Amino acid sequence: MNKFTNEVWFVGAEMSPLVKAGGLGDVMGSLPKFLIRKGIDVRVVIPYYKNIIKNECLNIESSYPPGRVNFGEIPFDFGIKTARTDNGIPLVLIEQNHFFNREYVYGSHAGVSEYKDNLWRFAMLAHGAVHAMRVIGIPGVIHSHDWSAGFTPAVARHAFGDEKASRPALIFTIHNLGYQGVYPMDDFYDIGIDFKYNSPSGYEHFGALNSLKGGMLLSDVTTTVSPTYASEITTPRFGFGLEGELKRLYDKGKLKGILNGIDLDYWSPQIDKMIHYRLQNKNESYSLKDYGKWADFKSKNKGSLLNELNLPIRHGKGGKTLPLIGVVSRFAPEKGIDIFLDSLFNWDNFPFHVVMLGSGNSKIEEKAKYLAEIRKDRVCAIVGYDEAMAHKIYAAADIFIMPSKTEPCGLSQMIAMRYGGVIAAGDTGGLHDSVSDMMDKGVKNPTGILIKHMDVNGISWAIDKLYNIYMDENGEKWKSLVINASNQRFGWDDSAAIYENLYHDAISPGY
Ligand code: ADP
Repeated sequence: MNKFTNEVWFVGAEMSPLVKAGGLGDVMGSLPKFLIRKGIDVRVVIPYYKNIIKNECLNIESSYPPGRVNFGEIPFDFGIKTARTDNGIPLVLIEQNHFFNREYVYGSHAGVSEYKDNLWRFAMLAHGAVHAMRVIGIPGVIHSHDWSAGFTPAVARHAFGDEKASRPALIFTIHNLGYQGVYPMDDFYDIGIDFKYNSPSGYEHFGALNSLKGGMLLSDVTTTVSPTYASEITTPRFGFGLEGELKRLYDKGKLKGILNGIDLDYWSPQIDKMIHYRLQNKNESYSLKDYGKWADFKSKNKGSLLNELNLPIRHGKGGKTLPLIGVVSRFAPEKGIDIFLDSLFNWDNFPFHVVMLGSGNSKIEEKAKYLAEIRKDRVCAIVGYDEAMAHKIYAAADIFIMPSKTEPCGLSQMIAMRYGGVIAAGDTGGLHDSVSDMMDKGVKNPTGILIKHMDVNGISWAIDKLYNIYMDENGEKWKSLVINASNQRFGWDDSAAIYENLYHDAISPGY
């Protein structure tokens, strides 16, 4: 057994803050940091993308021998670089300029258009990762993330052996089942993977190649990013065709839901350098007495953001500033932004400000821009990806909306609560697990509202409810919502401990 190191190697396509398209990047950037704090040796393998090549702050070394893989008849050489992030996470970077020296991770920021050769690009990631293990040291655990790392278990099994004793323990995490890496089966023969994994217990799914399916079935245990999502994906409604396999794993205890966390040092209203005003309160937790500081924080950030975006600050009865509804999201259909926009078209008097940031589906982008054009004085839609603007919106939003139809975990609601925002969200997946619904009589400290029927009426109903609570003269209910939200701590401590136990279990011979 001691041919293995004690290390856990993460393999994935993104890692914040170096390269991020969504929540996967956040998790790959923050979970290792908290595992390392617990004394676990973690390394992260990602492609050597263009913006990492250009990153002058990283001290990149290349002291390991290169590798080669044949894709069909064509040999591709690749290099192994190493570096360390400024918070001390060791990196392994797979250098293959033809595949990775590009602008985007997947083909556009929100992953809407895909590079045509993504199958080969992410097969290369798996080959590069396993080659790096051979030359640096074989880890005890390989933890692969999402379809883009889905070939890693097969390449590792081929390199080290299928038998548990001869290879690292294999853990696979599904961050979003909606993206499975599905390609024509013929392409399987061109990605350098042993043909024996081309079967229904591997990558074959109804005649097509499915990277996520193989990644999960060839691993010892699969996790996903919230307990509710873990049970939802075992049903046809949320299973995207893999519900049968997922149900079998779930029933055997081999599919587990572990709630993601956020990096509370990075997302901190007290020290965040990207926002206009920082919270003037150093408390660890808040009571109603602290509401004044929070109100000050919100109103200053809201005022500055509206000024920056040239939106007039509008007031309602009693001179109270109207609430700001914030959105930071990929504009993908499952995020429900199109339904939110439809619901906004229905409001006549429009008693709030709306600031939206996102990109993705071009129809949703156009619809958002059109609404902003006809409601110039009320709505700003920023189409694109802008980390600093996202921070400013979290800091300014009184109400943060996530109208998701399905949401594996969702980090934006956790971040928004950390910045004192009250949430209106779909009642699904990680939103169900992290937002305490004010409509549920059993909930003591509500942090927002969960929308059971995600349609135009459902969203309008939720906005109307929160608007009335916000505008209420005495405001006690609003104050408690803000204080409850700001007291939520979705850090990594609890979930990192669950992963630590899982690594221990997974390396044991009988697991
Ligand atoms: P998903 O992974 O499905 O995109 P999550 O809520 O899990 O959704 O994570 C989204 C992450 O990406 C958050 O950190 C959010 O702030 C960030 N994000 C999403 N869209 C943008 C954008 N247009 N600009 C900046 N950050 C964004």
